[in-house]
Parts: sequence; C-alpha cells; structure tokens
Amino acid sequence: MANCVYEPNRIVAVTNALNTNRSEAIFSAAKELMPGGVSSPVRAFKSVNGNPIVFDRVKGPYAWDVDGNRFIDYVGSWGPAICGHAHPEVIAALQEALEKGTSFGAPCELENQLAEMVIEAVPSIEMVRFVNSGTEACMAVLRLMRAYTGRDKVIKFEGCYHGHADMFLVKAGSGVATLGLPDSPGVPRSTTANTLTAPYNDLEAVKELFAENPDAVSGVILEPVVGNAGFITPEPGFLEGLRELTKENGALLVFDEVMTGFRISYGGAQERFGVIPDLTTMGKVIGGGLPVGAYGGKKEIMSMVAPAGPMYQAGTLSGNPLAMTAGIKTLELLKQEGSYERLESITQRLIKGIVQAGKDEGIPITGSSISAMFGFYLCEGPVRNFEEAKSADSELYGKLHRAILEKGIYLAPSAFEAGFTSLAHSEDDINSTLQCFQECFSEIKK
Ligand SMILES: *Cc1c(COP(=O)(O)O)cnc(C)c1O
Repeated sequence: MANCVYEPNRIVAVTNALNTNRSEAIFSAAKELMPGGVSSPVRAFKSVNGNPIVFDRVKGPYAWDVDGNRFIDYVGSWGPAICGHAHPEVIAALQEALEKGTSFGAPCELENQLAEMVIEAVPSIEMVRFVNSGTEACMAVLRLMRAYTGRDKVIKFEGCYHGHADMFLVKAGSGVATLGLPDSPGVPRSTTANTLTAPYNDLEAVKELFAENPDAVSGVILEPVVGNAGFITPEPGFLEGLRELTKENGALLVFDEVMTGFRISYGGAQERFGVIPDLTTMGKVIGGGLPVGAYGGKKEIMSMVAPAGPMYQAGTLSGNPLAMTAGIKTLELLKQEGSYERLESITQRLIKGIVQAGKDEGIPITGSSISAMFGFYLCEGPVRNFEEAKSADSELYGKLHRAILEKGIYLAPSAFEAGFTSLAHSEDDINSTLQCFQECFSEIKK
C-alpha cells in the first residue's frame, strides 16, 4: 500500500494503490445479508463512490483493514475514540469489569460514579439518566420536553441530527444529508407536523416560529456546534439569543451534546460558550467506545422521569457495568492536565494546514476547528448553515476522499460530517496527514 507515513518522498501513485480484495469480498457478502451491507448508513461509501473499507482492528490513532492496510483515522468511531482507540487503561479496566459480569439488571455503583462525573463536569446537569445510544437520549429528552411543558411542538435546525426517532427526521443531518434523502418514509405526517425547522444561526426565523405558534412550542433543540452537516460553529450571539427566546416563550432550551459533550471542552459546548441549557443529551465520548447515551438537566425537570415521576422511559441494558467502566476511564483520562490544550493545538494545526494546502492548489476551501472537532468545505465559504454547506463541491470531495484513502488517511465518507482528532494523534501523524493532503489536492485539481 502507498503510505506516505513511511515513504514521505516517494512518487505519488496515481492509480489505485490500495489492495482492498478482502474488503471487497466481505462487503459484497454483507450486501446480501444486511441492507446496504452496513449496520449504519454513514459507514457506506455511497456519496464518495467505491465500497467501504472493512476494519480488522483499531489502536491509538490508527485503524487496520482486513487487507492489512493501516490508516490514520479521523473518524474515531464517529466520536467516542477521543483518547485514541483501545486505550490500554480503558481496556484494562474493561477486562477487570468483565470478570464481574456484563449486565446486572440491578443498580451498580459504577452508575453513581459516572453520574457524579457527568454532573460535576456539565454545567446544566444536576441529575442524569443513562440510556444506550444518542438516539435514545434524544427520543427521551423530547418526551420530557413535552411532558414538562405540556406542549407538543419542537423547533429544530436544518442539518442538525438528533438520532433517527420519527420527530427528528425532518431536514436531518448526518446520513440523511449525505445520501440526499427526503424526509424518511414511514414517519407519520401527524408526527412531523409538530416539528418546526429553522436555518442554523438564524435567530429571526426562530422568533417567527415562536410568534406563529403561541404557547405550543415545548422547546428548541440543537447541536450547539454542528457536526452532522459538516462542521458549523454558532455565530456570536446565536446561542445566547436562543437562551433568551426560549425563556421569553416559556419553552426549554436543549443542547444535543451527543457529539460535542466532553469533546468541545470537558463540560461540553455549554461550558465553552457559557450558555446553559435546561436539558442536555450526551453519548459517544461518555461511553468510551461502548454503547452509552444520557440525558440530564435541572433536578426539577429530571424528577418527572419514572420512577421518580410519571414520564416513562426504561432500558434493559442501560447503565450496564461495562459501558459505565469505559465511560469512567475515558473521562478520567480526559480530565488529566493539558488534555484539551493538546487536542486544541493539534486540531488547529491540522485544519489550518488542510485549508492552506487546498488554497495553494487554487481549490476553493474553507475550514475551522474547535477543540478536537474540525471540518472543511470545498467552497469559498463562509458556511453558516446547511443551505450554504450544500454549495460545497461534493464530487471533488469524493475524489479527495478516494485519493487520500489510498495514502492511508481515513476521512468520513461524506462531505457532511465533522472530523475528529484524539489524544493519540501525534505531531508526526498530523505532519504526514498534511503531506498527504498537499499531494492529493495537487492530484485532484487536474
Ligand atoms: C451521533 C449523534 C446522535 C445519535 O447518536 P447514536 O448513538 O448514533 O444513536 C444524536 N445527536 C447527535 C448530535 C449526534 O452526533
């Protein structure tokens, strides 16, 4: 395989240098067994052409495929791998926990431990409920919004993704945006009639929705930094404005921090931007690579959740000891002095280098990062919402994706997903990645 990590001065291969025979065989069998051959649509390579790479194992910043190729990974299992894949301390803690059993179906002390860590870290959270995925957390928080306010409608933003529950599949981001799908069939119109949408970063639009739906809106839910429509940051005053508008209208403000939680800072985007929502959803990082989601907020609101209150929500595997252990260990690692400074600095160097490399080749490009999250669009920019994101050259992104994959860099197979770095990405990894970008931009502009 052509891998510029080890051969920085070699001549760039123009043809398919990557041996993917086993990946191809496994994926071809998978397509007969599972819809589209994948367990989640975002893993397919539909929007970048070609077939997905089948992974064999992951470690630190790297992934190895079944053909023995090694990639520097900027997907990080779509968010959880912020300490690097298979961190030795997480693995050791899991091995120890495994001996005591994988699921109790009864309270375990580890739940208290992780709950205390989450409550201490995230400003808005006084009480938390663990679930098994980000989707579950968002479904539950929506029910809680309606239960608490006695109102049925919700305001979301175009290009934001809050999992695949019915009410959120309206102008959704992530795989829905990547595949260019209309809102999903199978979602009753009566359900989505309660979902109002506005362009991201547009306070006026939200104001209008409140005015058109007096006393009917339970709340506003958003990704405080968008990672499911590419990478879009909130403009100054946007989050603050939403805080005021929701308060004025007796509605709740909900930050979906499934992606940004413990990634934008230890206390999430709410800590970084100093805007405190009423409720927060989490996932990805807090599970340390095992399935965990969570929702939490003010005690007064969370006390409505069963069995403390009447709003029903439950889960057979929720709070299971393995998932709690991986989460606790991951947060302990993140809490160590200097973690976020390091993540910020390598990610900034990466994105600045990518944007410069594109510009040097005359390719229209705009990009940015916050902490360990980054993204770039192949257009002039600025990109402030999903509509503007769609003006990026997705065909060119497809070419870039393939070219850089062949050099051993694994990017999200979509122009509409944020990239992720981890504590395991070294300066050398960043350097070789940037060299690959330079070579690839030069190849694809022709
Ligand atoms: C990933 C994600 C979800 C869904 O989480 P799953 O664990 O995939 O169900 C929800 N909201 C945001 C912001 C996400 O990034």
